[in-house]
This record gives sequence, structure tokens and C-alpha cells, in this order.
Amino acid sequence: MHNLSRKRIWVAGHRGMVGSAVVRRLQSEGCEVITAGRETVDLMRQTQVESFLADTKPHVVVMAAAKVGGILANDTQPASFLYDNLMIEANIIEAAHTNEVERFLFLGSSCIYPKFAPQPIPEDALLNGPLEPTNEWYAIAKIAGIKLAQAYRKQYGRDYISAMPTNLYGPGDNFDLNSSHVMPALIRKAHEAKMRGDKSITVWGTGTPRREFLHADDCADALVFLLKNYSGEEHVNVGSGEDVTILELTQLVCDVVGFTGEIVHDLTKPDGTPRKLMSADKIRDLGWRPSIGLQEGVETTYRWYRDLSN
Ligand code: GDP
Repeated sequence: MHNLSRKRIWVAGHRGMVGSAVVRRLQSEGCEVITAGRETVDLMRQTQVESFLADTKPHVVVMAAAKVGGILANDTQPASFLYDNLMIEANIIEAAHTNEVERFLFLGSSCIYPKFAPQPIPEDALLNGPLEPTNEWYAIAKIAGIKLAQAYRKQYGRDYISAMPTNLYGPGDNFDLNSSHVMPALIRKAHEAKMRGDKSITVWGTGTPRREFLHADDCADALVFLLKNYSGEEHVNVGSGEDVTILELTQLVCDVVGFTGEIVHDLTKPDGTPRKLMSADKIRDLGWRPSIGLQEGVETTYRWYRDLSN
């Protein structure tokens, strides 16, 4: 439907895990990718975002920039998660509109669905119930971003769309144990425990919550697919359609890393939402499927992390 060849595409947040994967994926589309580091454009400053878009005049904007973090970071920095994300998305979408950007792709996240949404979560479950308290700050900001894309479509006829990626992982992820998500945390913990010869690793919570995971390269592929093939008000879930328990994930990571010790649970840490498997029906019906299985994805991510930490 939309040809990306010869289009100028700004990937906001190109240094992050998703943004860098999108930049890699766009290499084969014959488009011109533009990026801007924080030292060039501070996305929290409206005038800087406006000048950047007025100077570069992209046809398409992919919004992979956001303040993100795991369960602990979300819970302890509510103001930053709400304020930073609101500012970044509002600045970019308004400047995109005033600079005649044709297509804008906003990214939500599966954690912004209601805590007790039906599983697998269909797109229309958004705003149908209370949020998970540990990340409601981030969720409110991201819901506002989806609503902004819809509002600019309604009021100005802009072809702005949103995607809802599941829990992502892959090269370039944040491996800081205080702010990371579970996948990089487990890879790091298992690797370091193996190196030190520890007898156990500690996993937060009960290990019973279920999570769905998608490799960042699969996510980037889906996002480019949506940019080319989707135009609609409703956001589209981007996931694998399968989930595992945190304990199953821990066992898989330990196998890949080669750590054979015990798994200990730290019950003072929160479990978060019990399950958040998204329905993948809509994106499948549009014609997209992931291609990187969980085992393969964990293996390549572990190799990347090991090379980095050596
Ligand atoms: P969430 O998907 O928004 O809840 O964010 P996380 O990826 O941070 O956490 C997912 C689940 O993994 C939660 O139940 C955590 O308690 C659990 N978990 C187990 N060990 C860890 C860990 O070392 N770090 C993180 N971030 N989560 C962990």
C-alpha cells in the first residue's frame, strides 16, 4: 500500500533496542534514514523538535524514542515515566503534523492494557479496566500517545498509526539490573553466576507470571510491514502469540548460558501483572508472522551480551 523507497524516514530513538533494529531493517527498503542523537535534538524540548523537522522534512516518522524500564524503575520513578513520555510524544506528533509528515508510527506496549484484560488480549481491550499499578505512569503516557495519533487522524486527516509491541528483547537491550526488563536481567545474572561459580541465581517474584517475548529484529520487521501495509485508527498488536512463565524463561536462559545452579526466588520483589499475552490475530490476518523462535533469540542475544562483556 505504501512504498517506502526513496522516502526520507526519521527514526526517533535510533540508539535504543527497537530504534536500532528499525534502522537495520530499513536498509533494504531503498529509503533514506535520518537520525538525530540527543546532543542534536532534545526530544523533551518542543522548539528543538520543531526546528529539526522543519530542517529535515521527513516523509515518515517512526517513534521509537521513549523512557522505558522494567518493573522496579517504573514503580520508583513515576514522574519521569509520565512526564518524559508525554513530552516526547506530544512534541514529535505536533511537529510532524505541522511539517506535513505523511506517515507517523507510534509505539505503545503490551503493558498498557488493563491488568486483568482477557487473554490473549485483543486490541479493543485497551481502556477497558484498571491498569497494573506498578506501571500505570508509563501506561497513561503511552495511551495518550495512541490517542494523539487517533486525534490527528480524526481532526486533520493524518495517516498516523500505532503498534503495540509485546515484551521485546535482543541486542542493544538494557542489562542494568536495577532498571532492566526480565530477559536481559536473567541473561546477565546467569552469565555472572556461571563466571563466579555461584551455586544459585535469584529471580524476582514467584516465577509464575506469564510473559510473551519477541525479538527486536522481528518487531522491527513487523513495524516496517505495518508502515507499508496498514492504515487505520486502531493500534495493532505486535507479538508472537505465545507466552512462557518467568520460571520457564529462567530455565531456558540457564540452559543457553550453561548455568546449572539453583534458582532462588526473591519474594520481596513484585510479580507485576499475572499474564499479558496479546492476541496476534490482527497482524497475522494482515499477513505478518515472526521468524525468530525464543530459544534462537536467547542464544543470539546471549552471544551479543557475552561479546560485549568480555
Ligand atoms: P513487566 O513485564 O512490566 O512486569 O516487567 P519486567 O520485565 O521487569 O518483569 C517481568 C516479570 O519478571 C516480573 O514478574 C518480574 O518480577 C520478573 N522478574 C524475575 N526476575 C527479574 C529480574 O531480575 N529483573 C526484572 N526486571 N524482572 C524480573
